[in-house]
Amino acid sequence: MMTADFLKERVAAIATMHRKERAIAPILAEKLAIRSIVPQNFNTDRFGTFTREIKRKGTQIETARLKAIAAIELTGETLAIASEGSFGPHPAIPFLPSNREVVLLHDRTMDLEVIGEAISTKTNYSHRRVSSVEEALAFAENIGFPEHGLVAIVGDRENEEIFKGINNSEQLADIIETGIARSADKKVHLETDMRAHFNPLRLQVIEQATLDLIRKLECSCPECDWPGFDVIERKAGLPCEWCHLPTSLMLAEIHGCKKCGFKQEVLFPQGRKTANPGECHYCNP
Ligand SMILES: [Zn+2]
Ligand SMILES: [Zn+2]
Repeated sequence: MMTADFLKERVAAIATMHRKERAIAPILAEKLAIRSIVPQNFNTDRFGTFTREIKRKGTQIETARLKAIAAIELTGETLAIASEGSFGPHPAIPFLPSNREVVLLHDRTMDLEVIGEAISTKTNYSHRRVSSVEEALAFAENIGFPEHGLVAIVGDRENEEIFKGINNSEQLADIIETGIARSADKKVHLETDMRAHFNPLRLQVIEQATLDLIRKLECSCPECDWPGFDVIERKAGLPCEWCHLPTSLMLAEIHGCKKCGFKQEVLFPQGRKTANPGECHYCNP
């Protein structure tokens, strides 16, 4: 089994300037004996930021791919890892905020791309307009300050100023006081700093996505042994236990190979062969 053996003892450029390598590099070293380097002067902000000065172009995965290719070009290495995060409602539970991280591996010599992914509802993503230092400190305490940093946006729309990476109380109090004095409505916009080096919760999700990447690398195609044999499609239609009609629950996953195109259907991926009548549209409309 060649399972990702060609990655062993290679050098990977990690496309980050926010110390995400602290989450990614130890796992690569332990599982694949990959040595990581971080390119100097790699400005990932040009691919989009959370603090909205630069809008992200393209999807999360496209952005990660662009970062990985840029890191390869900058360092002259042939292997790169990039990660990209997003925040929004959980895909299955819309009212729950969540953090989705993707970690993408791009190997230029093998023309291989494998994507690890993790979704967590353990996120402190939050914002508030505050009108006093006390209110700001209470909000800060709630989001896990100072281990988790804050961003403050001060002033009015025409001349606003952004302070990032705020991680001590005196600094926060200063910014709030001057900010209140400067804005027409006497308020300052505060939000959680979601950059990885100011957000330990995010680093944990990046770690999970890196482990998922390793798992996917270890799944190889039964036909050609190419790594990254993974789910490419999901089919709903698990039959109801009573009436046997298809429900919206998952019936099968299709795993596919990006190299030779081989596909394999895996029935009952969640370990259940029937749906509960309570989950059936006909038995429990
Ligand atoms: Zn039914
Ligand atoms: Zn294959």
